[in-house]
Amino acid sequence: MTDPQFGRVAIIGIGLIGSSLARAVRARGLAGHIAIADRSPDHLERAEALGLGDSLHAGADAAVKDADLVISCVPVGASEEVAKLISRDLKPGAIVSDVGSVKGSVIRQMQPHLPANVHLVPAHPVAGTEFSGPDAGFAELFENRWCIVTPLEDSDPAAVEALVRFWRALGSNVETMGADHHDLVLAITSHVPHLIAYNIVGTAADLETVTQSEVMKFSAGGFRDFTRIAASDPTMWRDVFLHNREAVIEVLGRFTEDLIALQRQIRWGEADKLYDLFSRTRAIRRGIIGIGQETPAPDFGRRKP
Ligand code: NAP
Repeated sequence: MTDPQFGRVAIIGIGLIGSSLARAVRARGLAGHIAIADRSPDHLERAEALGLGDSLHAGADAAVKDADLVISCVPVGASEEVAKLISRDLKPGAIVSDVGSVKGSVIRQMQPHLPANVHLVPAHPVAGTEFSGPDAGFAELFENRWCIVTPLEDSDPAAVEALVRFWRALGSNVETMGADHHDLVLAITSHVPHLIAYNIVGTAADLETVTQSEVMKFSAGGFRDFTRIAASDPTMWRDVFLHNREAVIEVLGRFTEDLIALQRQIRWGEADKLYDLFSRTRAIRRGIIGIGQETPAPDFGRRKP
């Protein structure tokens, strides 16, 4: 094994993403020392039992001391609190990064509190599951997934390059783009789809003429796929919508217009228009499978492997 890329890596927030990172960093020998911080004593206890780090800290400030790379893995809305807490203890020259699903807001929350002698290089691994907490993570989570790095205009190129190298070493494909563009792209590919899932599952739960047990029993007809997405962590997703307001509202506006058009096509029996759309969407699904971001294997135990 080669020398670790970083002497000390501090991971703040040992949930699904933080614990996956800790496992992957260890498995690939990327850090001499992994320091873990979490505000939850239960999560720290689990992290210790699972052997996720070399040192465990109740305060993020203690974890970041002497760290060459600091990665905030907390819900987006807690980013400012973390930046304030760690600012005085950061090592000069350290890279400060994160994994938040929204980038513009994280930069606005963190940057004003960080000293000028550290490098803020935000990132977002586009990889996850509907589970949370330290037990939910696994070392392979980032393999063959995209990680989007969103450097600031004045980011130090060497720090950006080091973070890109780090994510590649974890098995990810890396793309760099501006934070605002990231937030718009993710609004359509992730945030609004989650909102639609939360909404349809909520609508079904509120229907008075169809019972809850009927909804569960007959869920295979499409509803079940939505329930997996709608089981995602409530805190994380609350923060995503509150912190990517503009892009989500923009995409939601387009979505609503298209939905009304579909409603009209159904009302007027415009079969060709419906068929054309469904053919185009099927091609998109096949394209995603074609580039290896999904498998054609049916999920949800519909078919035995
Ligand atoms: P998670 O499993 O709920 O983990 C978050 C962890 O951070 C929890 O242990 C939480 O403790 C802790 N925490 C919260 N506030 C904190 C604070 N102020 N200081 C220290 N620790 C704090 O969530 P996750 O899914 O890993 O998400 C973490 C980040 O990754 C989010 O920013 C999210 O947007 C991003 N992300 C998530 C996914 C996904 O699919 N889940 C994918 C890509 C990126 P408590 O339980 O006590 O609050």
